[in-house]
Amino acid sequence: MKNMLSVIMPIYNEAQISIGVERTIGVLENAHIPYELILIDDGSKNDSWNQITDLAKKHDTITAIALSRNFGKEHALCAGLDNASGDCCICIDSDMQHPPEFIPEMYRLWKEEGYEVVEGVKKARIKENPVYRFCAKSFYNILKKIAGIDLQNASDFRLLDKKALEAWRSMPEKETFFRGMSSWIGFRRTQVYFDVAEREIGTSKWSLRNLANLAVNAITSYSSVPLYFATGFGLLFLLFFLIMFIQTLYMKLNGYAQTGFTTIIILQLIIGSILLINIGIIGIYIKKIYEEVKNRPRYIIRRIIKGGSEDGSAE
Ligand code: UDP
Ligand code: MG
Repeated sequence: MKNMLSVIMPIYNEAQISIGVERTIGVLENAHIPYELILIDDGSKNDSWNQITDLAKKHDTITAIALSRNFGKEHALCAGLDNASGDCCICIDSDMQHPPEFIPEMYRLWKEEGYEVVEGVKKARIKENPVYRFCAKSFYNILKKIAGIDLQNASDFRLLDKKALEAWRSMPEKETFFRGMSSWIGFRRTQVYFDVAEREIGTSKWSLRNLANLAVNAITSYSSVPLYFATGFGLLFLLFFLIMFIQTLYMKLNGYAQTGFTTIIILQLIIGSILLINIGIIGIYIKKIYEEVKNRPRYIIRRIIKGGSEDGSAE
């Protein structure tokens, strides 16, 4: 099919998947867009896979992929992107927080105006708690400063042209961050602004720990600036040491030696914590190197159903 769009939807423990899927298909068919819809079951523990297979039986435009366990959204997206055969692709959340009504406009920008990446940017965040908003904002500001990529209000809801997708595929890292990687590749890009809808059903699968992990991962993947902190702190404290050294010697020579205890304890504490923090930072990078050299696959596929029938691995 010419100008085919691959719509990629990761799914993990969602209820009533059909609502979002039917809504998306409705939009695509009304707009007469040739499409394939790739549903990835990211090792759901509920009946998501049954719901997906039912949908795949009903619509032969659906490709259903089951991963062997829960690999996380980033990896589920990889499975979808690797299996996309269209001339462009769009990633969209299954909980309809990315309104599928924007797809025709994104597709038009690609097809008629020749943009190679169309980014969905979040306009307003509904009912978001202020602490979260503050953390998210500071995080994106730090990331922009030290890694040079602006992900403020960026989302995974974006269209990638085949060429951009190929560029994405050429990146070999095992620990992926779709938003960051698809910004890093460049290409002619434009934005569409959408309101983040409230989650239709179910709850968000992100825990605070997940988010913290994602933040650390995003920063350490795009920047090695934290590694320089150690040297920076070291130099700063060297200066401090010199002053203290002279003062201590002076005290000793004049017979006031005992008075230095407070200073010594404070110094011990500061040096100790800075050393530990820096060992931690180095540790994060070593972990990342370790993860990459292990060279494990990003995901493992258990089953694929394409055009209503099994494709590849057996039942
Ligand atoms: N998701 C996934 N694997 C996971 C967690 C989430 O595939 O381990 C999917 C989920 O089904 C949804 C999308 O990723 O389609 C976004 O998840 P969620 O709504 O929980 O995240 P949020 O909207 O809060 O960022
Ligand atoms: Mg959501």
